[in-house]
Amino acid sequence: MCGIVGYVGKQEAYPLIIGGLRRLEYRGYDSAGVALGGEKGLRVYKRRGKVDDLETFVEKKDVTGTIGIGHTRWATHGVPDDRNAHPHLSHDASIAVVHNGIIENFRILKTDMESRGHTFLSDTDTEVVAHLIEDVRNAAGVPFPEAVRLALKEVVGAYAIAAISADDPDTLVVARKGSPLVIGIGEDEYLVASDASPIAEHTRRVVYLDDGDMAVIRCGAENPEIMAIDDGVSHSPAIREIEFKLESLAKEGYSHFMEKEIFEQPKTIRDSMRGRLNPKTGEVKLGGLSDYFNKLAEAERIVIVACGTSFYAGILGEYLIERIAGVHVEVEYASEYRYRHPLIRKGDFVFAISQSGETADTLAAIRLAKEAGAYAFGICNVVGSSIARETVAGVYTHAGPEIGVASTKAFTAQVTVLSLIALALARRRRSLPEAELLRLAKELDSVPDKVAAALETRSACRELAEDISQLRDVYYLGRGVCYPVALEGALKLKEVSYIHAEGYPAGEMKHGPIALIDENMAVVTVAPLTEVHDKILGSIQEVKARKGKVYAIVTEGDTETAALADRSVAIPQIDELFVPFVAVIPLQLISYFVAVLLGRDVDRPRNLAKSVTVE
Ligand code: GLU
Repeated sequence: MCGIVGYVGKQEAYPLIIGGLRRLEYRGYDSAGVALGGEKGLRVYKRRGKVDDLETFVEKKDVTGTIGIGHTRWATHGVPDDRNAHPHLSHDASIAVVHNGIIENFRILKTDMESRGHTFLSDTDTEVVAHLIEDVRNAAGVPFPEAVRLALKEVVGAYAIAAISADDPDTLVVARKGSPLVIGIGEDEYLVASDASPIAEHTRRVVYLDDGDMAVIRCGAENPEIMAIDDGVSHSPAIREIEFKLESLAKEGYSHFMEKEIFEQPKTIRDSMRGRLNPKTGEVKLGGLSDYFNKLAEAERIVIVACGTSFYAGILGEYLIERIAGVHVEVEYASEYRYRHPLIRKGDFVFAISQSGETADTLAAIRLAKEAGAYAFGICNVVGSSIARETVAGVYTHAGPEIGVASTKAFTAQVTVLSLIALALARRRRSLPEAELLRLAKELDSVPDKVAAALETRSACRELAEDISQLRDVYYLGRGVCYPVALEGALKLKEVSYIHAEGYPAGEMKHGPIALIDENMAVVTVAPLTEVHDKILGSIQEVKARKGKVYAIVTEGDTETAALADRSVAIPQIDELFVPFVAVIPLQLISYFVAVLLGRDVDRPRNLAKSVTVE
């Protein structure tokens, strides 16, 4: 969500900042802007729309300077327009600020400053920060970096910020509390960004700023100066290497990242299992959990907190861990969990699932769990992310950077990790006979090949997408392990096509939603062979009896179900517990093709953000 880029060094800042903003476009945004500093003073250019619109706008304008900050905004306070786009300037226009997150006490601060003569040009919470820094600087007579620190001490909320000042033209100041920020250290130059993707092409040496810290970055200095916002005490920066490969940021011949990421899944699922699953012995090793595994194996209850697609992966985790390992699992929307006064017992195990590892609600939920004495574990994709750092143990999904806003490969990687956890727990708890565990381990090992076979449904899915693209409403029905798959299928269609879709447990149809079924309504049934297959056939009949259209995902060879449906897509046979891996593939493909047919912005659907760093 939103992107921050900053540069200070010897090169021209503008092209580097624009290049960085383009790398961050995948996160979702509605406006873009830059502020350039240096000898010529501050110049701010900002525009509603895409980075391309900003580029057109600055043509023939002065974009020189070796220091600058850039931003892609995802509006929270004030409509997306030129005025509200970042950077924002202080009252005297000497300080420029970009911000990701929400300043909760901005109204009080704003009213106070207005009463002292400040005029504000935007509706944003961010502009208040720029004014506040100026205010503190003038009142306390302190240098710019210290003014930033003192101002931030008065700010309540979540933020990553980057600021530059006309009075201190070689200094870039950044800070974080709740939103991520990475500092890249190059030769005589620094590039800061919301994640490592804009930095990777310039340098592999980075500092992941810790929550509650700020950095004063000076051109020519060997290292950034890192200090706590609270007390200003400096500490030495922990410099790390960026882990991912640059190629993973390119489309590699596919038309969209979403398409590439769907087709990458045989590989990414394999990567998630690599070195962890031994299909010959059935052994599972999860290094990230090893310190706590003995305790976890004795857990009476595991709680999973997550949002969106990760939440659906969590429900699958519940099915898998309960069925295979016999441990009671509860799955909660992180956004509800944090506010519903949950009963958390000391020693409970709370798993947070989040692709980015930055999801604000999920982060808050595990903080709450930690405070109550629970063990907080993470399942994230982004190495070094906040959730990874704030949990005592966890498992990386290793799916590689996911650029498409609608999650695909991260979902199957999360389900892979949850399957591994279920198997590891089951072995330790002896919840299933050894032979059965070995069979399941082999079956899990076959998932990448089965997913590759499921991807062959591509043209059938494309044809089905033609039908679905004409619709306004679609139901997705599933039962048992296919219920979360139906939820995920509906979410995917909504996200990228903007067609209204609802996922429902098939058995609940007759308790209400069936009222909507007539010849204009279509139902996608996730109906591969499972122990509840007969029940699904019943639901299909109910829809047909009311003249609804039925599109079915069926197991190869199941001609009976295929014959009942108006159209069907056949997926390979696999053990029931792992059916979701193959069943979700056609649903991802259908959503993708519908979005393409409707001319949607597939990788950056409207209103959505990749990394949801506000609550
Ligand atoms: N709250 C700020 C605004 O609405 C920042 C939003 C963002 O994270 O992009 O302008």
